[in-house]
Amino acid sequence: MSGKVLVVGFGPGSFEHITERAKEAIQESDMVIGYKTYVELISGLLGDQQIISTGMTEEVSRAQEAVKQAEQGKTIAVISSGDAGVYGMAGLVYEVLVEKGWKPTDGIKVEVVPGISAINSCASLLGAPVMHDSCTISLSDHLTPWELIAKRLDAAAQADFVIALYNPKSGRRTRQIMEAQRILLNYRSPDTPVGLVKSAYRDRQEIVKTTLADMLQHDIGMLTTVVIGNSSTFMYEDLMITPRGYQRKYTLNQTTQPLKPHQRLKKEAEPWALDQEVEVKSSRTWAEEALQAASGEAASTIVQQQVETIFEVAVSPGVVEKKFTPTQLATLAAIAGEKGSIEYTTDHYMKLSIPTLSPHEITEELEAKGFLLFPVGSVVTVKACDFCEGEKDSSIPQVQQLQQLLGGMDVPKELKIGFNGCAMACYGAVNEDIGIVFRRGKFDLFLGAKTVGRTAHPGQPVAEGISQEEIVEMVTGIVHEYKEQGHANESFYKFFKRVGAVGGFIHRDVTPKIKLEPVPCGDD
Ligand code: SAH
Repeated sequence: MSGKVLVVGFGPGSFEHITERAKEAIQESDMVIGYKTYVELISGLLGDQQIISTGMTEEVSRAQEAVKQAEQGKTIAVISSGDAGVYGMAGLVYEVLVEKGWKPTDGIKVEVVPGISAINSCASLLGAPVMHDSCTISLSDHLTPWELIAKRLDAAAQADFVIALYNPKSGRRTRQIMEAQRILLNYRSPDTPVGLVKSAYRDRQEIVKTTLADMLQHDIGMLTTVVIGNSSTFMYEDLMITPRGYQRKYTLNQTTQPLKPHQRLKKEAEPWALDQEVEVKSSRTWAEEALQAASGEAASTIVQQQVETIFEVAVSPGVVEKKFTPTQLATLAAIAGEKGSIEYTTDHYMKLSIPTLSPHEITEELEAKGFLLFPVGSVVTVKACDFCEGEKDSSIPQVQQLQQLLGGMDVPKELKIGFNGCAMACYGAVNEDIGIVFRRGKFDLFLGAKTVGRTAHPGQPVAEGISQEEIVEMVTGIVHEYKEQGHANESFYKFFKRVGAVGGFIHRDVTPKIKLEPVPCGDD
């Protein structure tokens, strides 16, 4: 007969941040072992369990007691704040078992129930400081030699990790946090944002935003986690934010876009990535470079160095407007300069590819000249006709609405919505993934054209006479179905065929039956 030890992390300390499994585990147990304050916190969950709550310093005896009780067939919950596997009880319980020669296959069962660790709960209260590579370092030198802690602080500071310091200070341990600050200042600017969170999600919660230089002027204690930003962390409206990447390969405005997937990891587009071709260097060269990087100044220039990225954006004079003005063309030429390129595409737009440090300046300038900007890549493009130079203008409001709602939206694969303002459909709407043709005050809808290949075919006519009130909602619904259920890189016509119905319209196979040969590029 052997019992079970449940090692339960209950999160930062508020009832709503305890996981469902953690609550169940506590209720399942015959006995709860944990520090007094924590047992009080979960008292609402307790039935007739036996409680053993001992002092903070007796962690080893708590683990031993848990194992002893489990050996008698009981189910024991050992509780830890945050996550039980992060400076918590999980490792200790296993250590006690290993010492006894325990095997997972026989004898006592162990379940470690995960919880929200302080690094995550504290980060959520500060903003989003832990967005990039990060680490936790405990400043407690009770069980770890200070020399090793100092070495880790040095390495983490040098490697530009976001750092969460656990156990930063206690009544007797006051020098450690000062030493930590000194080491960090060897590599990071004194202005580096620092967040101090005390008792996250508990009654006495306190949040302080400060800097590496000033952090010691604030109260730091046993229940504080100190979050130190990396070299690109910034403060905005009292929020501490670490950007997702160093090189802003992404652009935040939906109408401007980064690299296409196939351009990623090409040397010219992402010069900071690890070169695919391994450079043969002597160990001496490696050593010299490492030494150079280890000297404070060199290390900080390495992380802050900015690299030009190839910024791609598509521009057109407007959804309906097809004429570029001379000023607009001159602007494009000036922006592209010697190093950029301008490509005229099959979709009535110009695609710019420009090496730059600041895509935002480019998009601002283009917008100021009245261009409509589209992202390039797996996004929705609305391709409208010119409505006979605006003379047949009754359906222009609908196309503009579609452009506003869907243009530039990320989808599994490039999706083109053709929109033609009369039944002549001379801009070929029926040959696009989704085709919309305006006719006698109403719309006809075509879905799932196969736009390329020898088996190319127009879209299946699925509905006629859709009213002006209904069309936008109907098409938006169809695009959302595709966005949510389409597989990555699955074209709209393949998606329609696979799922059998979209927007309530049933798929019919209209592929011409001809003998196929392998195509030189892509799949046919
Ligand atoms: N297992 C816990 C960590 C225990 S070590 C976890 O995963 O979070 C104890 C340290 O954790 C404290 O010194 C403090 O730095 C941090 N900590 C734990 N709970 C916290 C809370 N609610 N708010 C801020 N820091 C906390």
